[in-house]
Amino acid sequence: MITVLDPLRTALVPAGSLAAIPVGWLGQPRLFAGADRRDLTSYSNHLAEHGPLTTPTSAVLLALLDAARLTGRGGAAFPLAAKIRALRPRARPVVVVNGCEGEPSSAKDAALLSRVPHQVLDGAAVVAAAVDARRVFVAVTDPGVEVAVRRALAGRPDRDRFEVHRLPDRFVSGEARALIAGLNGDVAVPPGRRTLPTDHGVGGAPTVLSNAETFAQLATLVRLGPDGFARHGASQLSGLAEPGTVLLTVTGAVRRPGVVEVPYGVELSALAEVVGAQPSQALVIGGYHGGWLRPDPHLVLSKAGVAAAGGTLGAGAVMFVGDQTCGLSELARVAGWLADQSARSCGPCAFGLPALAEDVRALAAGRAGPAVAERHARMVTGRGACGHPDGAARFVLSGLATLADEVRTHQSYGSCGRADQAHLPMTRAQAFRGVR
Ligand code: SF4
Repeated sequence: MITVLDPLRTALVPAGSLAAIPVGWLGQPRLFAGADRRDLTSYSNHLAEHGPLTTPTSAVLLALLDAARLTGRGGAAFPLAAKIRALRPRARPVVVVNGCEGEPSSAKDAALLSRVPHQVLDGAAVVAAAVDARRVFVAVTDPGVEVAVRRALAGRPDRDRFEVHRLPDRFVSGEARALIAGLNGDVAVPPGRRTLPTDHGVGGAPTVLSNAETFAQLATLVRLGPDGFARHGASQLSGLAEPGTVLLTVTGAVRRPGVVEVPYGVELSALAEVVGAQPSQALVIGGYHGGWLRPDPHLVLSKAGVAAAGGTLGAGAVMFVGDQTCGLSELARVAGWLADQSARSCGPCAFGLPALAEDVRALAAGRAGPAVAERHARMVTGRGACGHPDGAARFVLSGLATLADEVRTHQSYGSCGRADQAHLPMTRAQAFRGVR
């Protein structure tokens, strides 16, 4: 069962905004429940759909989070309970909702904050009450999403607790420490030193920072309880310990790109049917810090299922690389883009990633074999102040492995005879072309 909504088109959504991206679902939606029947940007409609919200004590909240094994949905999959437990009690904490999606292939947080903002704001309010937070910051990059969140807050009785901030739209802006730097008035790039937000975050206060979807899932958990929450997901479908639903942003060689809510544990074939995927040579899953996989129709879409196939689900970005494009040229183009995304303040980003991008360009042009690129990818791994070089290296290495046949063709003939069709987007306008 699938519902695909039309793009949201109102005068309040600026042209080209992420807020206009279609959403849909497989099975019974949780986060988007009711969004096909009423305007859930209205707080009264939201309460009518989902009922009142309780704010559990810290101990009760931690027990709920442990029971549901709720992990962050921003990519790192770190347990939310562990972040709360790690808070240093030396000052009143703050809560940060990360609605910045640096990935051009990800729009799920924008979709949540635009279509069902109170799900996210409720989750943040629950955490703020449990840890006695001083403030809740909502960080976004898209102007249309900022408008949507401000409108939603205007209708809430707890609006004075929240602040909305718009940060620059860059790949690394959504990285936790980059985001905190931006909220502190500095340039929104990862600082050179590794500090934990739970120790020293916004304004120096201990900070619980998590992804917008994580807070929306938490609000659902509080309303349903762990048993109700587990009634969907991989715990039901395949015995895997991943209850609930997950948001996937699906782009590339598909007829209907958009954000789809699915129960953890559905197979790739079901998702491919929903979005109208074309015959594909590969998938890029988990975004550009994720990796390439062969498009096995039986791939299980859960953290454990994708990990078993050698990938990472990350923040849920799924890109189909169709048969009509040159996969190696797509890989080379994205490797170059990744090299351009950092402030180049660390050695691996200043020198390693540009060299790696050039290696892959040479490979695609039939001027080199894969060995040099593989060596450079391994050399940058583990050397940066943040995970960007590791993610870029993972992207290149998994691409070379998945495209091994194409690599051999380019080595033998200089080309595979196909052009780069830009199935892997550099911008959201490319990712959702024909939609926005
Ligand atoms: S590793 Fe790269 S992206 Fe990360 S802080 Fe250093 S220069 Fe910036």
